[in-house]
Amino acid sequence: MKKRKKRKKFRLKSSFKRFLAYAAVILILIIYGTISISNNIKEIKYHESFEYKINSIGYSLEDTKKMIEILPEKSLQEIVDANEVNEIYPNIIKQKYFLLKNYDEYVEYKTLNKNTSYEDVIAIVNVMANKGWYSQSFESNIEDGYSMIVNKFYYLKPEYERTDLVNIALSYAYADNKAASIVVEEYYKMWQDVKEELNVHLMVNSSYRSYEDQEEIYNSFKTISLKYADSYAARPGYSEHQTGLALDITSLEHKGQNEFKESEEYAWLKKNCYKYGFILRFPEGKESITGYNNESWHFRYVGNEVAKKIHDENITLDEYYAFYIKK
Ligand SMILES: [Zn+2]
Repeated sequence: MKKRKKRKKFRLKSSFKRFLAYAAVILILIIYGTISISNNIKEIKYHESFEYKINSIGYSLEDTKKMIEILPEKSLQEIVDANEVNEIYPNIIKQKYFLLKNYDEYVEYKTLNKNTSYEDVIAIVNVMANKGWYSQSFESNIEDGYSMIVNKFYYLKPEYERTDLVNIALSYAYADNKAASIVVEEYYKMWQDVKEELNVHLMVNSSYRSYEDQEEIYNSFKTISLKYADSYAARPGYSEHQTGLALDITSLEHKGQNEFKESEEYAWLKKNCYKYGFILRFPEGKESITGYNNESWHFRYVGNEVAKKIHDENITLDEYYAFYIKK
């Protein structure tokens, strides 16, 4: 009896061991199966992801990841649907002044204007220049203070006039010139430094102009043609001179605008005016962004901080406004 029991016990023990072995094998199979199923699911999922789809069109993984990070699903789907590499997509999103809200317009503009640099495409679209001058109009926001924008899209109402306009003294300007008090104050400092460094006398030709003054100028140009008027004068309400923050400057030594442009005082102003809160408002090479030919005489007060930023980043007020204020 004892022996049988023992044997039975032994049999039980060994069948239990066998059971354990089977169970272990089954368990391993289950675990392995689960892992491989989940890997398969992962793989299927990855094949459905934008990362896989865009990367496999031929975009680098880095570009692919950047596009996924920045662009909305709708735009990613368009890239997938196009099914061939278009360098515009990854290049446009890498630009410093890229604004997501303008993405479709950048792509459209660059597609139609292949020779325009990415930098310029971004700037042109940001300032709305792609829409055509005067094609849209918005009232300028006076709350923006010295950074306020007046250009071919932003206007001032006819009755707008600053309350802090002061006369510019006759040694510094021709008769009947006035501007915002801080502008005059800073201009005097700049005048003094130009006088000390170059022994040249700056002169303001034109400064604050009312809506009616501008209307008169514009209409006189318009007698030649509308195109002529729009090329050489701002439409009434759209002139920066109405802000009281703009000064047209030449010098006693170089009175004509063309000779002033060649002068050392112009070079000095271009280099140093930001230290007094001014910017050259319509620089060379930025015509397609400002809508104006280079005006070597037209300086705009924006305050020291903004002037420095515009100077350091080599942008225009229009670009600054679009990117840093309006966004
Ligand atoms: Zn001017």
